[in-house]
Amino acid sequence: MTNSTQLAVIGGGPGGYAAAFLAADLGMQVTLIDEAGHPGGVCLYRGCMPSKTLLHVAKVLTEAREARAWGVDFGEPSVDLDRLRTWKKGVVDRLTGGLGQLSSQRGITYLRGRGELVDSTAARVTAPDGDRTDLAFEHVILATGSRPASPPALSLESDRVWDSTRALELPEVPLSLLVVGGGYIGLELASVYAALGSAVTVVELTPGLLPGADRDLISVVARRLEAVCEAVLLETTVAGLAEEADGVRVTLQGAGGDRSDQRFDRVLVAVGRVPNSDIPGLERTGVQRDARGFVVVDGQRRTAEPTIFAVGDVVGEPMLAHKASHEARTAVEAIAGHKTEFEPAAIPAVVFTDPEVAWCGLTEAQAKSEGRTVQVCRYPWAASGRAVTLDRPAGVTKLIVDPESEQLLGVGIAGTGAGELIAEGVVAIEMGATVSDLRLCIHPHPTLSETLMESAEVFFGQSTHVYRPKRSR
Ligand code: FAD
Ligand code: NAD
Repeated sequence: MTNSTQLAVIGGGPGGYAAAFLAADLGMQVTLIDEAGHPGGVCLYRGCMPSKTLLHVAKVLTEAREARAWGVDFGEPSVDLDRLRTWKKGVVDRLTGGLGQLSSQRGITYLRGRGELVDSTAARVTAPDGDRTDLAFEHVILATGSRPASPPALSLESDRVWDSTRALELPEVPLSLLVVGGGYIGLELASVYAALGSAVTVVELTPGLLPGADRDLISVVARRLEAVCEAVLLETTVAGLAEEADGVRVTLQGAGGDRSDQRFDRVLVAVGRVPNSDIPGLERTGVQRDARGFVVVDGQRRTAEPTIFAVGDVVGEPMLAHKASHEARTAVEAIAGHKTEFEPAAIPAVVFTDPEVAWCGLTEAQAKSEGRTVQVCRYPWAASGRAVTLDRPAGVTKLIVDPESEQLLGVGIAGTGAGELIAEGVVAIEMGATVSDLRLCIHPHPTLSETLMESAEVFFGQSTHVYRPKRSR
């Protein structure tokens, strides 16, 4: 049967559903296509939401243990994995069910199935039961997301080798877990499993965890991870995996080529993600892909084919839910004929480890590599009353400032709650704030948000809680 729609959206993640919802709000007739029962995508079903649910549990376990030092002893925590899985599923069901409701309230046609392109004006959707629907469209937005990368040395068909989706299902708490990749997923899930009781080893190919982020921020989380993990091995990779009766034998390889074998109960592979740009029928359109497989788009998220737009993980990094949703809004506005462009000054990045690390705008590393002169001011959390009341004095808030205009170019935060705090940096950068603006805004006391204001005071050498000896004249 052939239907028609003004806008078809293939993929129901944060890119796809944000696009569909805005388009419907703007009065378009919209069809949203995804294989799952409700919108949500990777983020809600097997990414952001299940991982943050488990990280919250990890935080509770950690704080309960830390409370002993404050005179509060809850005893040894016991974890009921069945109830924990049910709780996590409940969170996902509640959120995806809510999106389903928001979709139908907006009058969006939701087609459950796998979408393919017939050409640049029509799609075909194959439902889980094999039923096919042909759909003519005026425009289509591709929001098909990404999937875990699985290089040959790390590919082993075994229940003992997990990707992030499997690890988030929480099949068990292994005695020993090797996490391959010290990026976002590796470190978040290492935090979860270490808190649940696994002896976790992290191996990272490059000389530092979370490559690309500023080292002074990462060192805060690295110190803590080293304390809760069995080992964190840098400049190390996996040369091979072999299943044995009692686990997985892993051949680790250091920077110098030296090899050693170790056995782990389970191995989690988290070495990046690849775009789902292998959409059937794409070759029948003018859509281009780059060398890494990302769909090539312009500033409005339009592909080389005028009727086809693409947003989210499938168009490139950073592969973050909020980036996908904002790109989606740009694409829909462009389709609606608005004058629009995706040109954020600051996309926040948050790694929800313990403690969290967050940054936005220009990083110090980026400024250095671009040969750009910046002034960096840091406020150590040991000087924050709030951080001390939380027994979390390890942390830093830093500002990256243009020394001439005193405009704020970047913000970085490492410490508990950094993910919530970074939003103030995004607002300040997007509004073109100067470091003076930040200093003059009265922040509530005692809060961690004061560290942003006081790091601005550091810029002027006048931070209330940081003593800077006067230079002798
Ligand atoms: P996706 O969310 O990947 O959705 C794409 C959808 O399209 C999927 O449902 C897929 O099944 C569907 N699809 C694909 N092909 C077809 C087809 N041919 N027909 C029909 N449907 C199709 N980001 C954050 O910002 N914060 C976090 O805390 C965070 N945590 C994460 C944790 C994990 C473990 C993972 C894996 C990712 C995390 N991310 C996080 C990244 C985030 O999930 C992605 O950036 C985001 O989901 C991308 O949104 P998207 O709309 O581009 O695609
Ligand atoms: P990643 O790119 O963040 O990290 C992968 C890490 O693996 C890198 O540090 C890389 O150097 C390392 N690596 C690559 N090959 C290796 C090898 N053979 N041996 C050892 N280490 C190796 O990728 P990810 O952690 O898989 O996450 C994918 C993406 O999902 C992230 O980039 C991010 O965009 C998104 N994500 C975001 C969040 C969040 O926003 N909090 C959470 C999870 C995932």
